[in-house]
Amino acid sequence: IVYLDHNATTAPAPEVVDEMLDALQRAWANPSSTHEPGQMARRLLADARTRIASFLGCQGAELVFTSGATEANHQAILGALALARAESAGARRRLLVSAVEHPGLLALAERLAGEGVPVERIAVDARGQLDLADLDRQLAQGDVALVSVMGANNETGVVMPVEAVAARVRAAGARLHVDATQLAGKARLHFGRSGADLMSVSAHKLHGPKGIGALLVRKGLALPALLAGRQERHRRGGTENLPGIAGFAAACDRAARTLDEDLARMARLREALEDGLRAVLPPGLAVLGEGAERLPNTLCVRFHEIDSERVLGRLERAGIVAASGAACTASGTQPSHVLLAMGCSAAQARAGVRFSLGRDTTPAQIRRTVEAAARVVHPLMQAEQPAPA
Ligand code: PMP
Repeated sequence: IVYLDHNATTAPAPEVVDEMLDALQRAWANPSSTHEPGQMARRLLADARTRIASFLGCQGAELVFTSGATEANHQAILGALALARAESAGARRRLLVSAVEHPGLLALAERLAGEGVPVERIAVDARGQLDLADLDRQLAQGDVALVSVMGANNETGVVMPVEAVAARVRAAGARLHVDATQLAGKARLHFGRSGADLMSVSAHKLHGPKGIGALLVRKGLALPALLAGRQERHRRGGTENLPGIAGFAAACDRAARTLDEDLARMARLREALEDGLRAVLPPGLAVLGEGAERLPNTLCVRFHEIDSERVLGRLERAGIVAASGAACTASGTQPSHVLLAMGCSAAQARAGVRFSLGRDTTPAQIRRTVEAAARVVHPLMQAEQPAPA
């Protein structure tokens, strides 16, 4: 099969598996133990932390290992809200989140709103870009504790203007969390220069293992723990997931070594896919996020208003695996909240199909994808074509 769903997850790289096995077999002791086996595990943890911090552009002490980006997002939001409330004697309580955040983060925001926290969504424009004027308006309320904006959107690949957001948030006396899960391995990432106070990442999006990620916490920020305990400088209790952390470090080393070439190659193949689809399909192909800065690996399209599930089923039978931002439920396909926020109709927002390339995607795979689309999507589109008047 041709796997074009790298924004969902990536296969662990061989060197990742090797380092994980080594950590499992050799460094299985508890890094908190003072005996020699424990100290060996501790050295491995310190070494991995240095390598990951170097790739992410942060200091080792700013890196808190978590079970992934979902946990990191929770700690960032719950922690930053609690901190601001305490610092301001309750005056700063408001949470602003972009309308196109990951569903897990939006679910937390909804839960908080239900508990009485003032929560607002920041709008995006038709291309999926953050509406900075809307952000300015909402920051002017003066009671904002935290702004949470993703580094890049998982469905459309649209890259958010993190530095411009950071400058506004800082000027307003609030803090910024960036869910950078989709940036790592697909863009140059530097926490120190980003202007963000908090940043979430996840290893499995860059050929590392699942179940390990990190929250980056700006030096000096006394962020409370989600899981109490003394590990990770009292910011995340629980015995460290050493095999996961070792695999995460190997993934960062590998990504750092080849990032520039990977980005250039993925961008070329993404263009080839987009041009190829346009060439073989009748009119009615729309590129979502077109005109905005996008991740080099992501192509989100809709074929007229054809339900994504119909397209994806046909593509998969033809050997091509892609994805939809829309969620499938018993009652049918739910429109993608990202495409709705961009002004798509419900039918259009059920039609988004995402092709996300990886660093191992080949030109032959892109050709096969275009051929498959010509064979199985073309007839669907033709059938949807409005009859000539
Ligand atoms: N945020 C974004 C933007 C994501 O794309 C994902 C993964 N789909 C997550 C958070 C969740 O990451 P994890 O699987 O590590 O919890």
